Order: sequence, then C-alpha cells, then structure tokens
Amino acid sequence: MPKTVQVAVSNAAFHFDKLYTYAVMPDQQAVQRGSMVLVPFGKGSRPRMGIVLAVDAEPESARLKALFDVAPETAALTDELLALVAFLRERTFCTWYEAVKAVIPYGAQYKPAFGPDGVTPVLQKQLVRHTENSYKLAGELPAKPRPTAKQLLAVTLLAGGPRTQAQLEELGVSRAVLDNLCQKGVLACEKVNKVIDLYSNIPLKNEPVTLTGEQQAAYDALAPHLADTAPHAALLYGVTGSGKTLVFLKLIERCLALGRKALVLVPEISLTPQMILRLKSTFGKRVAVQHSALNHTERLLQWQMIQDGGADIVVGTRSAVFAPLENIGLIIIDEEQEHTYRSESAPRYSAHEVAKRRAADNGALLLLASATPSIESYAAACSGRYQLVRLAQRYGGRPLPRVDLGAMRAELGGGTPREISRRREDAIRENLARHEQTILLLNRRGYQTVALCADCGQVLKCEKCSVPMVYHKARGQLLCHYCGSTVAPVPTKCPQCGGKLNYTGFGTQKAEEELTQLFPNARVLRMDQDSTAGKDAHEKLLAQFARREYDILLGTQMVAKGLDFPAVTLVGVLGIDSLLFAQGFRAYETVFSLVTQVVGRGGRAGSQGYAVIQTVDPANPVLNLAAAQDYDAFFEQEIAFRRLGLYPPFCSLCMVGFTGKNESQVSRAAARFSALLGQQAALQPQMPLRVLGPAPCSVVMVNERYRYKLTIKCRNDKAFRALLARVLALYEQEKLPQQAAVTVDMNSDGEL
Ligand code: ADP
Ligand code: ZN
Repeated sequence: MPKTVQVAVSNAAFHFDKLYTYAVMPDQQAVQRGSMVLVPFGKGSRPRMGIVLAVDAEPESARLKALFDVAPETAALTDELLALVAFLRERTFCTWYEAVKAVIPYGAQYKPAFGPDGVTPVLQKQLVRHTENSYKLAGELPAKPRPTAKQLLAVTLLAGGPRTQAQLEELGVSRAVLDNLCQKGVLACEKVNKVIDLYSNIPLKNEPVTLTGEQQAAYDALAPHLADTAPHAALLYGVTGSGKTLVFLKLIERCLALGRKALVLVPEISLTPQMILRLKSTFGKRVAVQHSALNHTERLLQWQMIQDGGADIVVGTRSAVFAPLENIGLIIIDEEQEHTYRSESAPRYSAHEVAKRRAADNGALLLLASATPSIESYAAACSGRYQLVRLAQRYGGRPLPRVDLGAMRAELGGGTPREISRRREDAIRENLARHEQTILLLNRRGYQTVALCADCGQVLKCEKCSVPMVYHKARGQLLCHYCGSTVAPVPTKCPQCGGKLNYTGFGTQKAEEELTQLFPNARVLRMDQDSTAGKDAHEKLLAQFARREYDILLGTQMVAKGLDFPAVTLVGVLGIDSLLFAQGFRAYETVFSLVTQVVGRGGRAGSQGYAVIQTVDPANPVLNLAAAQDYDAFFEQEIAFRRLGLYPPFCSLCMVGFTGKNESQVSRAAARFSALLGQQAALQPQMPLRVLGPAPCSVVMVNERYRYKLTIKCRNDKAFRALLARVLALYEQEKLPQQAAVTVDMNSDGEL
C-alpha cells in the first residue's frame, strides 16, 4: 500500500524542478511509478499536473498534502519510458515534465479539470472519443418471449467472439437490439480502444525478393546482431539506388522471426507513405505509424496499439523514437544525416542519442543508413565505433545521371530574371517529348522572394523579425516565414523612403507559373509547405505523380529525398546558392547531401538520367563533388576542415541561446551567463572548453524578441553537463531569465 509518492510537477523552471512529496489516499492505491497525477501546488494549493517518479521514498508526515487525482494504470509510463525521461532531462537540460510531454503523444496526456460537483480537481484525458462499445455473450437467450430474428443474428455473430458496435451495425444489428440484449443479461458491453487501420487498403505483396550479392553481404554482416542481446551500432553507407530499403526489409523480417520488434525512423512526413507502403505490403497489419501529420486521435490510437502489443513494426518521424515498443531488436534511422532528427524545441534531443540509448537498453541493433552519412557518423564508422557496411553499386548497374553544372551568372547578365534557364528549358522540353518525368528542386517557397527598394536599396523586412518578407502570390500577401506575420495588400512603395519596390528572387510559386507558361501542355505538380498543408496531402500528391498524372514535380527539399520514381529521368536543382552560403558548420554537408540525393533520383529504372544544377559558382568544390557523387572525397575535405576549425566530431558544440524583449538586457544577461560559466570552469581547469561570444544571432530578432548566443566547444560528458547545470542554476538564482530566457542545445549546427 503506497503511502507517499515523489512527484515532478509541470511548469517548473529548470533550477526549481525538484521532486515534491505527497500523501496517497486509500482510494488512490492504483498509483505507481510513472503514474500521471494531479497535485495541489504552492500556497493556494492550485491543481498542477505531475508525474510520479518514486513511491514511498519519503516517510509519511502529517504535513504532507494529498494527491488530488491519479490517472488509470493504463496511462502510466513504462519503466523504459521513465528512464528515457530521466535521460532526456540530463542530456537536454529540460524539466521532467517537458520530457514527459515529449515521450507520450498529446492524446495520451491528461489535463486538470473539475469533477461533477464543479469544485473537486480531477484529471481529464486530453482526448476522450477514442473508445467504442464491444459486445460479448454473457448469458443464454431466453426462449420466451420468442427472440426476434435480429436478436438471434446478434447471438449467432457473437458466438465466435466479441465484436464492436460498428462491426455489428454493419452486419445489420442495431444499437437498440444490442441495448435490449444487454438489459436482459444476454450480452455484456465494455468500452474498448478504437482501432483504426490507417493504411488498410495496401495489399499484401508476396513477391519474393532476391538480394544482390552485395546486398546479401550487407545483410549477412548485420543479421547476426539481431540474434544476440548485446547492443550494436552500424552505418549502412549505400549510394543512392543501391537498395538499402531491401536490406532493411530483410533485416526486419529476420528480426520479427526472432520474436523481436523493429522501429524505423524516416526524416520527414513526406517519406513515410513510401516506407509504410513497403512495410505494409511486406508485413501486413502489424505496422503502426507515429508522425505529426496524423491527427491527435489517429496518433493516440496508433500509440495505444503499440502499447497494447499490437504492433511489431513502428515507422515514423523523429518522435516515433519514443514509441512504447517493447523487446526491440532493430532500430533503423534512414537518411540519418537529416537535420530533422534534431529537435529544435525543448527537449532539444537528437533521435540518434535516444535511439542509441534504447538500443543499449534493449540489446538491439542500431542501423544508421544514408548515401551521404553525416560527417560525425562516418567518422565514427571509420574509427570503428560503428560497424561500417557499404553498398557501392546502384541496383541493376544503373548508370549515375550525367550532371551539368550550369553557370547562373551569364544568364543573369543577359537580363532575363527567370527561374528556368534556357539550358534547363531545352532539357525539360526533350524530356516531355519522350514522355518521361522531371523533378525540379527549389528550396524556397513562395513567389518572388524579396522586395528591394530601387532608391534606398533596402529590403522590405518583417516588422517583428530581422528577415525579409516573402511574397505569396496565391494569397496576395507578404508573409514572414519566421513569425507568420502578413502584409496585404502587397506594397509597391518602400515604407522607408517611398521609392519603388522591385520584387526579385524566386520561389516555388513563381517557378510554377514560369513552367506553365513555358510548357502549357505539361502537367506541373508543386509540392511545398503551402501545397501540402492538408491531411494526407503528401501521400496523395506523390501517389498521383507516381501514377504519372503529372509530368513535372516541382518542390522544396521534400521532393529531394529517398523518393523512388522509375520514370524520372531529369532532375534540376534551382537556387542551391542560398544554401551554399548559409551559416552553420553543417552548411556544406547539407548542400552535398541535398545535391547528391536529388541527382540520385534520376535514372533509376534503366534509362540514363540527366541532372542540371544551376549556381553562381560552378567551380565550387562541394557542388562538383556532389555532382560526381564522390562522398569519400567530400568526407576527406570536410573532416580536414572540421579538424582545423575544431568542429564536431572533434568536439561537441553547445549552443546557449538568450531571447528577450529588450536588446541591452539580453546582451547583458548573456554576458553574465558567460562570466558565470568562466567562474565555474576555472574550478575545473582540466576540462576542455572553448567559449565563443556572446554574440547576436544571425537573425537577431524573431517575433519582437532579440536573440543572442554563446557557443561552447566542449566534450559532451557528465562532467560538462553537470557544470552547465550549475551555471544555469546560478543564472536562475540571479533572476536573469526575466531579462533573457535561456535555452541549451547540444545538437545545434551553430545557429539558433
Ligand atoms: P536506396 O534506398 O538505396 O536509394 P532503394 O532501396 O530505393 O535504394 O532501391 C532502388 C530501386 O532498386 C528500387 O526500385 C528497388 O526496388 C530496386 N532494387 C534494389 N535492389 C533490388 C533487388 N535485389 N531486387 C529487385 N529490385 C531491387
Ligand atoms: Zn516575422
């Protein structure tokens, strides 16, 4: 009988995030470690959410307040998830409750409410309508009065086992009949979690696949790890089109055959449909999905299916790494270099570190895969920390596309401010004539990017952020991509000097318009954040493209990755320069990966592909290495740069961000943090540490808040994290968060 519990409460500050002890009432005996609870907090005993981290760790005392309410046992976090919560807190400097909210989906969370009397604080589920009635036989159907045909039907149907109301209704048994039989004691009704089969229309395919020699060798190198219970980490480095996905499928098959489960992570929502399709058609029903494009109910139902043991495979984006899957044998992180695996809001974790932790807990194989691994992962493979497995050949010996690095400057000088260059226009025209498909990548949404004043030369910026506004033609407005502010109607005069505004630069909407003008008969599909807002939009649009209902797919980077369309023979990259000159130490890695991936899209089904990349800097070594798909040379060049500049993997980069309304306060608070860090570090002179800044961020204002940063090059170990935790506590003791809120990011690329 638990008498006391220790609880971490919501809305705590990092420094004050300690555990509070509460008394357990006799009717709250369901409470356990991992339970969600509602507690009285502070002087006014206001209700607050909390999570139980320990039971009976503290003795009873008359002064203890009692819990208000306890959520049902089924809502408690498992030991493994609780351990992940503690892990997140220690690694990312978030609070307990922030970590709890990260590991369970919104729909499975609880919120404070009031009971029927209107005053007693109770817990309420965030989502309620996800259960349905299930009926089973509970007694004999009396012979008198004579049963109706419907009643007989109901009893006959239920003789084979319980069925849900929806199933029975479909078979012709109404709710009234069921209610009546329940009253008679013939049937019993209970609430069960709804099950939705999200991708039920995917047919099972039983085509056996034969791995190529190289694929088989990769499989053979990895499969033995699935059978033992020691953790392993490996990097599957396979060029685009080498069949990494087939190796995944075979490994998953083996993993399931061994009675273990598999977790598959993909970098973005747009890639889930293809992966789901492949998994579902190979493995059938027991595949669950977790990603942010599901609505809260769908997400919750899929989560419960996993929790109830109904899924053998979970596929999803970053947060799926927390899926409550037990007995995991294999965790795959596909396109592992993608930045989307790093969370940019609290808790600021990377899927890699969590996956590594779970692989360790489960004795699983962690398999990172990519055609362009992150420099950090490849370095780890070279040093033997990860097992390196290579796939060097494209499947079927398909040739790599021919790549044409076109100079932008000449055409710009020609005075044609158009998105689609002559050379590209010709290539598209030929491709259309051959009835083959084209993918165009333009990493900028909107219409014409910026408004530039012809007189004062100023760019029209957002009033709340220090970034240019972007023109969105379809909406007839300017939009800030940082804070969402809009300006309409679209101004023609400079707000500073009254000069004429020229709209320059390009975006996907402008490019789409140009394409339809140049090729009036071509069917053009635009995919970007604006055109894929609707539910399942990605999936529908990609399916249409795959069915060849479109000739040209134009989009932001969501069209670049991992997609496999046999009829695509031409790939064009527009506007790569903005990425080439971007900030952050991973900028070149990002460009290299994007270009390699997009070039790898072309020519996948036998025909020779062709890729056109347009840049102001055609001699740029990164672009040339990407065009040649020469990852090894790129790695050599990049690792030398990282060593010289002291960047990861030669150190860890810890970004401390400061934001607030008043710039001088933000700047002073950041300076004070830096001083506190200096004092603490002086006590541990042996700790390797290099501090840069504080300095304003490259985008200094977002949503009327000023942003400063401190960059710490360090070794991300326990000692460093403890030191930083002390500095954060001192910063909070001096009440500096009121001047500038502070965030810590151990996975940043150097920019906030
Ligand atoms: P990657 O993920 O490495 O870019 P994919 O797994 O998408 O490559 O494979 C590329 C294409 O080659 C796919 O259409 C896939 O079905 C095909 N393919 C690869 N290996 C085989 C194989 N052993 N048998 C049949 N088709 C294969
Ligand atoms: Zn803004």
